[in-house]
Amino acid sequence: MKNSQILQSPNDSSSYEYLQLSNGLTVLLVHQADSEKSAAALTVNVGHFDDPVPREGLAHFLEHMLFLGSARYPVAGDYQQFISHHGGSHNAWTGTEHSSFFFDIDTAFFAEGLDRFADMFCQPLFSNEYVEKERHAIEAEFSLKLKDDGRRIYQVHKETINPAHPFAKFSVGNLTTLADTAEGSLQQALQDFFTAQYSASRMTLALVSPLTLAAQKQLVLQHFSALPAHLLAKTALTEPLYLPEHQAIQLNIQPHRDTQKLVVSFAMPDIQHWYKYKIISFIAHLLGDEGQGSLLSYLKQLGLVNQLSAGGGIDGSNYKDFTIAFELTDAGLNGRDTILQALFSALAQLKCQPLPSGLFAERQKLLHWSYLYQEPSTAQQTANHLSVSMQHYPKEDVIFGDYRMELPDNTLYQQVLGYFSSDNMRLMFIAPGVTTTHEARWYQTPYSVEPLSPALLRQLDNCQPDSAITLPAANPYLTGDISLLEKNAHMALPKAIYQQQALSVWYKADTDFHTPKGHIFVQLSLPHSIENCAQMAATRLWVELFLDNINQQFYAATTIGLVYHLHVQRQGISIHTSGLATNQILLLQELLKQMPAQQFDETRFAELKRQLGRHWRNSSKNKPVSRLFSQLSAILQPLNPEIEQLADALDALSFSDFLQFDRDLLQQVHVESLLLGNWSASQATQLTDVLHGWQRQLPSTGVRLNNPAFALQGQGPVWLQLDVEHNDHALVIYLPAQQATPEQMALFMLANHTLSPEYFHQLRTEQQLGYLVGTGYVPINTLPGIAFYVQSPNTHCEQLYEATIMFFRAFLADTETMSAEDFAEIKQGLLAQLHERDNSLGARAKRYWLALGQQDHSFALNDQIASALSELSLSDFIAFLQQLLLPDYDAIFLATDGKPTHSHLQFSTAADLKQRLKQQ
Ligand SMILES: [Zn+2]
Repeated sequence: MKNSQILQSPNDSSSYEYLQLSNGLTVLLVHQADSEKSAAALTVNVGHFDDPVPREGLAHFLEHMLFLGSARYPVAGDYQQFISHHGGSHNAWTGTEHSSFFFDIDTAFFAEGLDRFADMFCQPLFSNEYVEKERHAIEAEFSLKLKDDGRRIYQVHKETINPAHPFAKFSVGNLTTLADTAEGSLQQALQDFFTAQYSASRMTLALVSPLTLAAQKQLVLQHFSALPAHLLAKTALTEPLYLPEHQAIQLNIQPHRDTQKLVVSFAMPDIQHWYKYKIISFIAHLLGDEGQGSLLSYLKQLGLVNQLSAGGGIDGSNYKDFTIAFELTDAGLNGRDTILQALFSALAQLKCQPLPSGLFAERQKLLHWSYLYQEPSTAQQTANHLSVSMQHYPKEDVIFGDYRMELPDNTLYQQVLGYFSSDNMRLMFIAPGVTTTHEARWYQTPYSVEPLSPALLRQLDNCQPDSAITLPAANPYLTGDISLLEKNAHMALPKAIYQQQALSVWYKADTDFHTPKGHIFVQLSLPHSIENCAQMAATRLWVELFLDNINQQFYAATTIGLVYHLHVQRQGISIHTSGLATNQILLLQELLKQMPAQQFDETRFAELKRQLGRHWRNSSKNKPVSRLFSQLSAILQPLNPEIEQLADALDALSFSDFLQFDRDLLQQVHVESLLLGNWSASQATQLTDVLHGWQRQLPSTGVRLNNPAFALQGQGPVWLQLDVEHNDHALVIYLPAQQATPEQMALFMLANHTLSPEYFHQLRTEQQLGYLVGTGYVPINTLPGIAFYVQSPNTHCEQLYEATIMFFRAFLADTETMSAEDFAEIKQGLLAQLHERDNSLGARAKRYWLALGQQDHSFALNDQIASALSELSLSDFIAFLQQLLLPDYDAIFLATDGKPTHSHLQFSTAADLKQRLKQQ
C-alpha cells in the first residue's frame, strides 16, 4: 500500500503513513518489510537558541538529562543497557533550533524500547544526584573541544554578529553556566525549561520497522499520547543575524592548528522556502568547479590557493551564510585582494547571463537518478533523517524534498545572485601569524576585526568577467545508460576470474541493492614504497602530487559521484573507485594510464611537501586518546611508522630524490583487484584486460606483499608514557589475544560487547572521570584485541588506571554470578550484530575487500566466529575473563602521565618497546 499523499520513489518498496495525534505530535510511520531492526527518532523544535540567557547550554544539558531516569524507569543507565543488550544503539544531539533523540533495537523489543523512550519525554526525573554528576559530563565535553578549531572559530563568529540574535549564545555549556545560582537551582531551571519548551506540537516522530503500519500506529498511540501538550508550535526568528556594522568586515583569527584559510561569506535570508529549486547548491556547483577554466584552476595557476570549497556556512530559520573557503599557499597569505577579485569576476560572469540551463539540466538529471536509486540506509538512519525532514518540509515532500529540483525563473536566480555583493560580505582570514586584539570568550581564540576599505569594496563591485575563468563544460561522464543487471545475474560470493602470479581479479555481480552503481578496488603491491621510512614518506607525497596533477582532468567525474580514492597502504598503494558503473572502468583505465607517466613540477612539489608536513605535525594536536591509538598501531605494525618519523623523513626529501623515487616506484608491481556491483561478466573481463594490459607495459611484475605485525607476548604488562599537546589526561589499555582463531575472536568480541556499556556507565556516568570513555574491539591485522580508553580533563592517569582495575574486579565478580538466561541473551545480541546484513553496496564491497586482504578466500570467517560464539559456554567465558582481566596480562598501557607508583607494571618508552619487539 502506498500513501498517495507522500511522494516516494518508484523503487521504494516501503509504505508510509503520516498522522497527527490529538496532542499535536506529528508522526511518520514507515513499514519496511525487510528491515533487520526497528528504529525511532524524535526531533523537537528546541535548541540552544532557546537557552535562558544566564544558563547557556541548558538545552544541551537537558538532552543529556533526559536519558538519566524517568518516572516509570527511574534507574539511570537502565535505558542504555536495555538497548545495547537487545542489539541496538542510541544517541542524541542538540543543535541551534532543534534537538533529536533516537535509538534502534531488535524488533521483538521495540515496544518496550518505545515505552522507555516515550517516558523520557513524558515524565523525566532530573534527579538531583544526576544533575550534579552530569554537569561534569558537559564540562568534560566542553573542555574536550577547547583546542578544536571548529569550535574556536565558531565562537569568534558568535561574538561578531547582532548580539540580540540567539546565534550569539554559547551552545555547549560548562560548569560555570550550569550551576546553582542565587536565582534558583540548576535542577529547577531544568524543570522550568522542560515545561516551557517541550511539547508535542513541537515534536516530530518517525518510526521505521518491519511491523505493520497498524501495529506501529497502535504503539505510537499507546506510548506517545501522554506527551505534554500545553504549548503552541514555535514561530520563526525575526532578529537579523547581522547588523550593518557586522558586514564588510574582515576577522583575523589565529588557529590552534597550522592552517591558512580565507573564508568569504555572503549573508542571505531564510532560503528554505526555495528548496524546490536547489539554487544554492547549483551556484555552489558552478563556483566550486575544479576543472579547466575554473576559479580554482585560475588561482592555483597563480600559486595562491591549494583548494576551494563553495556553498557551506551556517543556516537557520531566518539566515543562511553562503561561504567560499580558500585554502591558501604561503604566497596566498598576501594575495587576498587578487583572490577576491577573481571571485568577483566569476560572480560578475554569472550575473551577466541567464541561468545556464544546460548545466542545470545535468544536475537535475543526476538528482533524479539519485531519487530513483536512493542509497539504502539503516532503519536508524532513515528514522533520523525523516524526523528532521518533517520539521522542514511539507508532508508531500518529506522524502522528495531533498530531490526536488525545478527550474527557477530567471528573476529568482538573479535575486539570489544579488546577495553576492561586497557590502553583504564578511571575510575570515585564518592563519597563525595574524595580528589580533581580542580573545573570544570560553575558547580564548585570539582575533581582531577590521572594516574592509571602501576602495576595495568599490573595486570588487566593479570587477568584470575575465575570459580566463569560465563555466564548467558539459560533463563527459554523464553519458551511457544506467540500466540494472537482471536479478538472476546476482552472485552469492566473489569469484576469482583471473589468477596468475602477478595479477588476480575477483568479481561479484550484485543486484541486492537495486542500484546502477559498482565498486572497484585495486591493490598495487609496491616493494619500493616500503623499503624504509624515507620511501614510505615519499609514497605518501607521491600520492598527493599525483592527485593534484590529475584533479583538473578528472574533476567532472567526481561531480556526478564517480569517485576515485588512492590510499597508501602497508603494501603499496590501493585505488578505490565507486559510483555509477557506466564509465567507471574507463575512469580507472585513464587513472592507471596516468600513473607511470607523471611530470612533476618543482614548485608544486615544494608546496605540497610543506602542506603534508604541516598536516602531519598538526596531528600532534589531535585529541590525546587518538594520539595514543595511533601510537599503539605504530608500535605493533612495523610498516606503520610514527607520524613524527615520517615528517622528519619528508623534510629531508629533495626534489631529485623524489624524481628517482618516482622512476623506481612502479618497477615491480603485483595487482589484486575486486569489482563488485552492477557489473556484467563481460565488464569483469574488460577490467581484467585493462589491468593486464597496464601491467604489461611496466618494467616488471612483482609478488603479493604481506602485512607484518608484532606480537606482544612476553613483553607486557608495560606502561608507556607519551607527551601530548593537550591539558587532558588520557589512558588507553590494550589487551591483545595470543592467537588469531575464530574462537579467540568470538571471546574478545563478546568481552567487548559485555564490558562496553558497563565501563561507560561506571567511569563516565557514575564516577565522571571523563567525557570520552569506552571500549572497542580492536584487531591488529587479524589478531583480535580489546581496548579501553578514557580521556579526562582533571583526573590523573594513575587514578584512571586504578578506577579501571577496580572496575575489572567488580565486573568479574558480577559475571561470575551471571545467570545462564542473561548470558544467552547477551550472546544473542552479539550474534544478531554479526549476522547483520550489509546495509549498502559500499559496506558489502568493503567487507569482501577486507577479507581478500586477509586472504580469507572462502569469505567464511564471519560465520566461523558466529558458530564459535554459539558454542561458547558461560563457564568458558568466565574462565577467559579471569585470565584477561588479571593484573599481569600481556597488556600495553599507553598514558599521558607516568606510571602508577605502586604497581607491578614495567615502564618503557615507545622506542624501547619497538626495539624489543623487533628483536623477538
Ligand atoms: Zn553532549
